Amino acid sequence: MTTDIHNLISQMTLEEKAGLCSGLDFWHTKGIERLGIPSLMVTDGPHGLRKQAESADHLGLHNSVPATCFPSAAGLASTWNRELIGRVGEALGRECQAENVSILLGPGANIKRSPLNGRNFEYFSEDPYLSSEMAANHIKGVQSQGVGTSLKHFAANNQEHRRMSTDAVIDERTLREIYLASFEGAVKMSQPWSVMCSYNRVNGEYASESETLLTRILRDEWGFEGFVVSDWGAVNERVKALQAGLELEMPSSGGIGDAKIVAAVNSGELSMETLDLAVERVLSYVFKSVEHRREQAAVDLEQHHRLAREVARESMVLLKNEDHILPLAKAGTLAVIGEFAKKPRYQGGGSSHVNPTKLDDAFAELQAVAGDAASFLYAQGYELDSDGINEALLQEARETAAKADAAILFLGLPDRYESEGYDRSHLSLPESHIALIGAVAEVQEKVIVVLSNGSPVIMPWIGKTQAILEGYLGGQAFGGAVADLLFGEVSPSGKLAETFPVKLSDNPSFLNFPGEGDKVEYKEGLFVGYRYYDKKEIEPLFPFGFGLSYTEFEYSGLKLDTTSINDSESVNVSVTVKNTGSRTGREIVQLYVSDVESSVIRPLQELKGFQKVELQPGEAREVSFTLDKRSFAYYNVELGDWHVESGGFQLSVGSSSRDIRLSASLEVSSSTEIAVHFHRNTTVGDLLDNPLTAEKAKKYSSIFGLEGAMEDNPDMFIAMMKYMPLRAMIGFGQGKYTEADLAQDLREMNALVAK
Ligand code: BGC
Repeated sequence: MTTDIHNLISQMTLEEKAGLCSGLDFWHTKGIERLGIPSLMVTDGPHGLRKQAESADHLGLHNSVPATCFPSAAGLASTWNRELIGRVGEALGRECQAENVSILLGPGANIKRSPLNGRNFEYFSEDPYLSSEMAANHIKGVQSQGVGTSLKHFAANNQEHRRMSTDAVIDERTLREIYLASFEGAVKMSQPWSVMCSYNRVNGEYASESETLLTRILRDEWGFEGFVVSDWGAVNERVKALQAGLELEMPSSGGIGDAKIVAAVNSGELSMETLDLAVERVLSYVFKSVEHRREQAAVDLEQHHRLAREVARESMVLLKNEDHILPLAKAGTLAVIGEFAKKPRYQGGGSSHVNPTKLDDAFAELQAVAGDAASFLYAQGYELDSDGINEALLQEARETAAKADAAILFLGLPDRYESEGYDRSHLSLPESHIALIGAVAEVQEKVIVVLSNGSPVIMPWIGKTQAILEGYLGGQAFGGAVADLLFGEVSPSGKLAETFPVKLSDNPSFLNFPGEGDKVEYKEGLFVGYRYYDKKEIEPLFPFGFGLSYTEFEYSGLKLDTTSINDSESVNVSVTVKNTGSRTGREIVQLYVSDVESSVIRPLQELKGFQKVELQPGEAREVSFTLDKRSFAYYNVELGDWHVESGGFQLSVGSSSRDIRLSASLEVSSSTEIAVHFHRNTTVGDLLDNPLTAEKAKKYSSIFGLEGAMEDNPDMFIAMMKYMPLRAMIGFGQGKYTEADLAQDLREMNALVAK
């Protein structure tokens, strides 16, 4: 294959080569007929195909061919089910094959820094480990069908506000541990055919022009083998982008980018080797796609709809279930209230907007699942198109709810509240929805709320409800899945992949979102999501990893296969989980790691493993995890590498980040010695902290005439002296300590630590 491509490249004119580095139109790469190079189609993504047949746009405006609409990423992530998201990927891949689409533009692995980000529904989590696991399995699923993916938007595209110009200013450690880690895991585990660079700038440079991101980190460090494509319109300077490692500009630049490339080669600014390499990278995937093309591919859309329902069921999170009000009995009279029950909000706005193959109506699905023994009433409750409170509809809702045994309220965020292209400005439900809760609660003791939203809402009204099912944007089978869960066909098993704050100002990015002008500084650093709420001891509305079930699980027998490891080794962790309730259910067992004592600032705990298990009533299973160096490491900026600080770590398993059931200790020792070098400004404290130099450093007490203090009260001596730089001894010592003494000390102590 490679030789063929080299041969093809050798037959190309400079103009043809430059031409292959940008699209033909909105959705196709260019072909070269005389050389037998075909043109490929790429299409959004990520949770369904948006193949536009006629008019093209990247904002979800024009229609596309019917395709299965799966829950969006926010919901997919709440399944915490690697195998299931892999099956969604396979289904997406099959639909691509049937539509002759070579690359699906997704998934998105950006971190949810703020719940206000208009595009959070398209992203997985606030946690990089969970996000990268989900993205990797999505990619593996799609690519198993011979269809490529485009992992996006690389990197630090965490808001829509001024997304094409803003500069995300992020310290290196945070960038590595949070924002890049989400992509890193996915790239290493699944080798996406392409990575899509983001619109924004990162630390001053456009992502599309960042050699650090696109080449040094993505390719050289992570081993990425695919090609980089620009987000639609993300190219600033074409030649600079190509040099940085951006092979394909999309959509077509109308020949402008190509002409710049030709001119740059002619002037010697751009080498032919760089251009040839870019062409080679694009072509290897063009031919890979041709090789995997399935001409006769057909899709069983009914089966995909059933899969969409299965996924939607697992993606929904039961947030509240007072007095076990759920599951509902399939009997009596139920009031179904809220226009969303008949006109579901099941996907987000923008480039991921899918034209579904069919669409469940929750009201009809509830009737179908409950059967004849239950009867249903309906009231509209609010007007979807307006936020204003409609008194007549509230009155009708009251009357309807009063006649029923329980009321099920379908509430959430209307389309205009969250979309690609802009951010939200608050976390509230529309006033009309809040008023509806109040009205129904006046007349009905059993109020069950089903939410449709792509990202958290605040719930000052929670006390008026008995149950809350977070449905996220559940895809085309949202209605059927809700019916299955409310009537207990299956037990809810989704858990939050993000923290729900009590109020917006609790969120760590609150003070610096969306930034000033074209600059947003990520001043909260590493403390994104639960990392912040934990450390600040802020009680969230619902914590990361939280979700209720209709059954209960008991944890026992946490075991490690060793009590200490070197960081080049791994440790196996196992725990037994038992279903102690009376219904079949699935538990998501979460493993968090804490560095007990650290010289660097670290979160209290970080997710490093999870497993989802299905258990029959009474059934127990052992769940196991393997942790390696990366599970204990932080990114050491001086080393330019991941580093484990030797010492004790705590491993905790639990049902959520705030419901830890068992913990065990492990000693991890580092195999990397960080070189120490003492100098004039090394402090006495640093010498005292180092076992090799501590004894010698005690002598400095004499310079101050503090020998007595050193003997009588060493703690006090250390406290007083520890921030003193060595050079200051010369002045304070008034002749007792000289430059020559200092030089001699440094020689001796550096010799000690060099051994
Ligand atoms: C979006 C991408 C999308 C592309 C093509 C852009 O505006 O940011 O996610 O894949 O358009 O529609």
